[in-house]
Amino acid sequence: MTAFERRRGDLPGVLPGPATRCLALIGDPVGHSGSPAMHNAALKATGRDAVYLAFGVAADAVPAAVAGMAALGFVGANVTVPHKEMAFQLAHKQTARAREAGAANVLTFRDECIEADNTDGDGFLSSIADAGMAVAGRKVLLIGAGGAARSVAAACLAGGARQVMIANRHLPRAVKLVSDLETAGAGRVTPWVWPPAKDFAHDADMVINATPLGLRSEDPSPVADWTALPGAVAVDLVYAPHETAFLAGARAANRQTVDGRRMLVHQAALSWVPWFGAAGPVDIMARALTSWLAAR
Ligand code: NAP
Repeated sequence: MTAFERRRGDLPGVLPGPATRCLALIGDPVGHSGSPAMHNAALKATGRDAVYLAFGVAADAVPAAVAGMAALGFVGANVTVPHKEMAFQLAHKQTARAREAGAANVLTFRDECIEADNTDGDGFLSSIADAGMAVAGRKVLLIGAGGAARSVAAACLAGGARQVMIANRHLPRAVKLVSDLETAGAGRVTPWVWPPAKDFAHDADMVINATPLGLRSEDPSPVADWTALPGAVAVDLVYAPHETAFLAGARAANRQTVDGRRMLVHQAALSWVPWFGAAGPVDIMARALTSWLAAR
């Protein structure tokens, strides 16, 4: 397999030509990403003459990479860790949900303008809706205060959560996120340190893992004891070929669980709205992601 084929993911039988449009993922690293497989399967199924590649880009090269994609007429790009905040700042225009998160996972290049959007939060809400869940009225315990937690916290507040407790290993980061969410939060959002004191959040209805714990099969669960959270369902943002310890623990305690795959699929499908005017095909993307994960 050539380096080009590796970047492109699975796109058998289609050769790029002079009219082919380009899309990309930028991040550091990107070798673990299922995005090329999902997007290329969907581009092929919808008959678009376009290709989606993944590029590992170091932080100091991100401005040049974004300017280069714009100059080359790329349709758009997804942005992953750790460049979402920089992508947001490099854009000329930002959607309201990107501003709420202070980060962008979608860039669109249009009429010499770079537009930033963030579909992670709505991708999260759609993923739990697929499992028959909603955040409205719920007391949410969100573990992690990084880029994904930022989008998910904003989406939980917009979705009517009763309370969002943001618990992070380093408390100042949770405090900063709570302060950034103050307008939307209006007293509904509080910072905590993780792991917490005993009996913390015992009445939480939903626990969300927004840390990378679970990416490696040997990672421990961020929740050591599910009996301390007797009424909580478990939602993991991590997507991995294996079941994470977080979800395995929740399932053993007879809790409803949602893994990170559906969120990944929905945020990808929603990226198509600014790029092509309508959401991408969720079922095709989901099947492509399942096959890609099974082959890992
Ligand atoms: P990030 O910006 O690097 O933030 C990571 C967060 O996890 C930080 O709050 C960090 O705490 C905490 N953390 C890291 N290692 C930890 C550990 N060993 N124990 C406890 N806390 C730890 O990453 P992110 O972009 O928010 O992504 C977080 C996870 O969500 C990743 O696994 C990513 O793959 C996943 N994600 C999934 C989707 C999806 O569509 N399914 C979308 C986005 C992200 P400190 O502040 O203390 O360092």
